[in-house]
Amino acid sequence: MSKRIAANKKKRTSIPQRTKLMAELLQEVNSRCPFCSSLDVGVFHLHHIDEDPSHHNKNNLLAVCPTCHAKIDKKDITMEMVRAVKINSLNRHVKIEFVSAVIAEEQCRWYQEKERCFYKRDNDKPEIPVISFTLINHFPNTVVLKTIRMYVKHLPSGLSGILEAAVLNSVFKYRLYMKKLGENIYPLQQPLQIPAGVAAKFDAEVYSKMVGDIDIAPIGRYVLYFTFDFSGGISLTTPPVFLNCCGENEPMTIWKNIG
Ligand SMILES: [Zn+2]
Repeated sequence: MSKRIAANKKKRTSIPQRTKLMAELLQEVNSRCPFCSSLDVGVFHLHHIDEDPSHHNKNNLLAVCPTCHAKIDKKDITMEMVRAVKINSLNRHVKIEFVSAVIAEEQCRWYQEKERCFYKRDNDKPEIPVISFTLINHFPNTVVLKTIRMYVKHLPSGLSGILEAAVLNSVFKYRLYMKKLGENIYPLQQPLQIPAGVAAKFDAEVYSKMVGDIDIAPIGRYVLYFTFDFSGGISLTTPPVFLNCCGENEPMTIWKNIG
């Protein structure tokens, strides 16, 4: 446990409203450990998914049994497995399927290196990344996408990277201004309607602003977590999207020698 704190250089802080949060998080996993399915858990632990013990956002916490918590600490259970389990439990009751998030290479100078890992390259296309999301509505009626939430996490700088890219036409292009780290909320002026049983695709341009109102592409390495809020209180959380990196813990590599 203390090893983790040292590695992150972040202090463990107490979780505000722990009891309420624990109740919500237990509901999320159906009161059983999401890894070993044990129902017979004396005391559930709350695991910080991004391993930052001061980051108590509900989306960053997962209720697990002490045994599986120890396995996570030892990396016997990887961060990727933890994330997948969290997303599955969040979307357990949602009949909207996340199909893909790809970079719209014809619209911007970014390319896909691995699934949901996008890098910027040099060419004449616009530098603001455009991410295309495809979802399928499995509800028997139309759902309306009303709000997009994007959680922004900045990773330490480092350079890496190179290469590549879809059939539906996008319905809308939303512009998402990366205003701050943490949660950014975008109520949609043009809500997206997805009829029952239909796949829909839309684009999201992610940008940050420079002084003087100039929109620029995100510089540095980011992990973006998207949550789509639909009519009827339905929310869908997508797996993370990585900009200029392929994961949270990838080693930094030098991609260009100077001189
Ligand atoms: Zn367990």
